[in-house]
Amino acid sequence: MANRAGEGLRAAVIGVGYLGRFHAQKYARMEGVKLVAVADSQYERAMRVAGELGVEAVRDYTDLLAKVDLVSVVTPTHTHYSVAAACLSAGVHVLVEKPMTMTLEEADGLIALADKLDRVLQVGHIKRFHPAVNALESRGLLLRPHFIEAHRFAPFKNRALDVDVVLDLMIHDVDLILHFVDSKVTEIEAVGAPVVTGHVDMANARIRFENGCTATVSASRVAKEATRRMWIYQDNELIELDFIRNGVVLTRRGAGVREMDGIQVPVIEETSLPVIPHDSLEAEIHSFCQAVRKISPVRVSGRDGRQALDVVMTIRRRIAESGLGGAS
Ligand code: NAD
Repeated sequence: MANRAGEGLRAAVIGVGYLGRFHAQKYARMEGVKLVAVADSQYERAMRVAGELGVEAVRDYTDLLAKVDLVSVVTPTHTHYSVAAACLSAGVHVLVEKPMTMTLEEADGLIALADKLDRVLQVGHIKRFHPAVNALESRGLLLRPHFIEAHRFAPFKNRALDVDVVLDLMIHDVDLILHFVDSKVTEIEAVGAPVVTGHVDMANARIRFENGCTATVSASRVAKEATRRMWIYQDNELIELDFIRNGVVLTRRGAGVREMDGIQVPVIEETSLPVIPHDSLEAEIHSFCQAVRKISPVRVSGRDGRQALDVVMTIRRRIAESGLGGAS
């Protein structure tokens, strides 16, 4: 299986439905990587994507494990554990989509397997690779957040309806917040409600951290308009991220005062940071390949994926305990 010197990495994508097709496209175009095959238990899907990209199609992913160094697992979440475990056991590095697994026990199982076999296990929390997040992190602007508010609202779509909005959408902001705050979670409150699917379609959670930071996170998949924004308050500064418009705006107290309605108020300075647009999925997959090559560490590890899953599981429990959440 070991990567043969000079020949590049051999990749495959398992599950080429909505998202897996995009994974396959990125590998097919990536320098130093050869997309060998795509697998889907609905063989016609594998055939269609394989035809588009000129690679082999297989129905049973176990048929391709001897031919590749790494895979993306982009199957429905309830299959992530069994598929990813089989890949790791065959010595293949794994990028598994989010949510990492259905349970914490399954997440622990994958982490232990990857550790034991010294394979890369990355979790597809793609927002870590978002241009606005890169703009923030590359400038070292994040110091010690005191309060974070996140809104992720999406119009209703006929996708991911087998899970609730917490596992589908809210987990993105939870992962980012855990990454930004980097402190132990001490308390979680949450409310949520089914609106159209019978599962929780809107949810709000308040997460408190040991270092004193609090975050509130709201997610809906029955909104009129798409909104994906985050506000981070730290000493003397508000950082506003807009994940749709690729915007990062810093609001700070400027020098001096000005008059407002007859009284003197501080001057407030707003600065828009330049955000360099890029394809987040391509950046995520490139980063996975660099980790497999041991050129850089894994950016979103199995432990990160487990931590986000742990928090969203607690949020779902709190909603269920409130008696308002419907079937989850
Ligand atoms: P999808 O239903 O469109 O595609 C899943 C595909 O996997 C289907 O074609 C199905 O036939 C195939 N499949 C199922 N079991 C299989 C198996 N054992 N072997 C091979 N193929 C199998 O789903 P999707 O919307 O593409 O979502 C897939 C995963 O990606 C989910 O876990 C979802 O949460 C995640 N996702 C992540 C993001 C993100 O922003 N990171 C966005 C969308 C989806």
